[in-house]
Amino acid sequence: MTMKLFLHDTLTGEKLEFKPFKPGKVSMYLCGPTVYNYAHIGNARPAVVFDLLGRLLRQNYDLLFVRNITDVDDKINAAAIESNKSISEITEVYIDAYNSDMAALGVNSPDIEPRATDHINEMIQMIEELIDTGNAYHADGHVLFSVETYDNYGSLSKRDLSEMLAGARVVVASYKKSAHDFVLWKPSTPDLPGWDSPWGRGRPGWHLECSAMIKKHLGKTIDIHAGGQDLVFPHHENEIAQSTCAHQGETFSRYWLHNGFLSIDNTKMSKSLGNVSLVRDLLKDHSGEVIRLALLTAHYRQPLEWSSNTLIAAKKMLDRVYGALRNINVTTQKINNTKVPSLILEALSNDLNTPMAMAEVFSLAKKLNKTLDSNEQENIAAQIYAAGKILGLFEQNANEWFSKITECKYSENEIRALINEREVARSVKDFNKADRIRDQLLVEGISIEDTSSGVRWLIDK
Ligand code: AMP
Ligand code: ZN
Repeated sequence: MTMKLFLHDTLTGEKLEFKPFKPGKVSMYLCGPTVYNYAHIGNARPAVVFDLLGRLLRQNYDLLFVRNITDVDDKINAAAIESNKSISEITEVYIDAYNSDMAALGVNSPDIEPRATDHINEMIQMIEELIDTGNAYHADGHVLFSVETYDNYGSLSKRDLSEMLAGARVVVASYKKSAHDFVLWKPSTPDLPGWDSPWGRGRPGWHLECSAMIKKHLGKTIDIHAGGQDLVFPHHENEIAQSTCAHQGETFSRYWLHNGFLSIDNTKMSKSLGNVSLVRDLLKDHSGEVIRLALLTAHYRQPLEWSSNTLIAAKKMLDRVYGALRNINVTTQKINNTKVPSLILEALSNDLNTPMAMAEVFSLAKKLNKTLDSNEQENIAAQIYAAGKILGLFEQNANEWFSKITECKYSENEIRALINEREVARSVKDFNKADRIRDQLLVEGISIEDTSSGVRWLIDK
C-alpha cells in the first residue's frame, strides 16, 4: 500500500490528503524564473523544494511537471535597454545560466519548460475568451481583467475585494474601470517587444502568461500549482481569476503550495533590494549538494534565514553522513532494490518535513557507525542512498567526498599554520584578524569549529 501524502494548501489554509484528479497521474506547475538576471539563492528555494516534491510524487504517480520561463517582462526590457543588448541576447544567457545553476543543486529538469514568447497565440485566444464572457474589456490599447466580475477574487490571498477597492489610494490609470483590474494585454512602443493582436501591437501581462501555458500543457484543471509565497498575491490570485473565468468556473488548481521566504538579516532576499547572494557565486566556494541541503534544512513553508553558518551546518551534516558511508561498497542494483525507510517517507509525506527526514538519515548514519556486521552495514548504507534519491543527496562517492581536499588552494600544513595564526590572534583578542582568517579558510571550503578539545576543521569543495 502506498503511503498517504499530505500537503498544506494555501487556498483552504489546511493540510490536506493529496488525491490526484486522474488516478495514477499528477500534473504540477511551478512558476519559473523571469530571466533578466542570475538566480539568487532565494530563487533556488522553490526550484529545490518542488524538485523534491516531484521526486516524491514520482515514487507513486506518473508526474507531468511543468516549470515555465518568463521571457517577456518589463524587467527584461529594462535590462536590455540598460546593457544595450537585444531582448533575446539577455534571455538566452540567463535561461542557460538558470538551468546550469539549478542542475548543480541537483534539480532535475522539468518535463516541459515552456517559454512565454512561444505561447502568444494561446494568450491572445484566452483574452478573446475573457472578453466574450464579459470578464475582460478593451480600453486604450490595453485589455484588462475586471476583478468585480469574479466573485471569488481574493480567496487565495484572503483579501476582501470591497475592502481593497475602498482602500485603494493609488492613482488609477485612465483606462481602468476599477483600481484592481489587471492587465492582460498592453500596447508596445516600437522599441519594445510586441506582437500583432486584435488590440494592436502589444505584449501580454505576466499573470496571463502562466494561465495560457498551463492550459496548453496541462489542461484546464491541474493538481498542484506551486511557487514562492510572494506570488500568492497578485500573481496567483490573478491566475485563478483568469483561468476560472475562461473555463466556465472549472477548478483551476486543486492544491496550492507556497514556499516561505529566504532572508538575510531578517529581510527578504530580492533582486530589487540588492541583498542577493547568487547561486553561481556560492557554487564557487561550496558544492551544490551542500547548498541544496542548506535549503532543505528548514521546513519549506518556514522562513529560512541565510548566512554562512547555514552552509557550514549543511556541510557538517553531509560530512557526518558521508563519513558513515565511507568504505562501504553498495552496488547500484542493491540501492535500486532497497526501499526508502518508512520513517523517512512518512516525514516527507507529511507536507515535506525535511528536517524530520534528515533526523532519520542521521539516526541511520549513527547506526551505521556502530555496527561491525558487513551485511548490516550494506543494508543501512543502501537505505541512506535510497532516501538520497528522493532528497537529491548522497549522489557522490563517499570516499571521493573526502578526497576533494586535494583541490583546496592550501596544503594541509598551510591550513594548520593559518589555524595556529588564528589561535594566536584570538589569544590576544584580535578578533578581526581571527575572523578574517576564518573567512579566508571558508572561501576555500574549510570550516573551523572551536571545540573544548581544540580546533576542528572540515573541508568542503
Ligand atoms: P522571479 O525570478 O523573481 O520571478 O522569482 C522566481 C521564484 O523565486 C518565484 O517563485 C519567487 O516566489 C521565488 N523567490 C524570489 N525571492 C525569494 C526569496 N527571497 N525566498 C524564497 N523564494 C523566493
Ligand atoms: Zn506564474
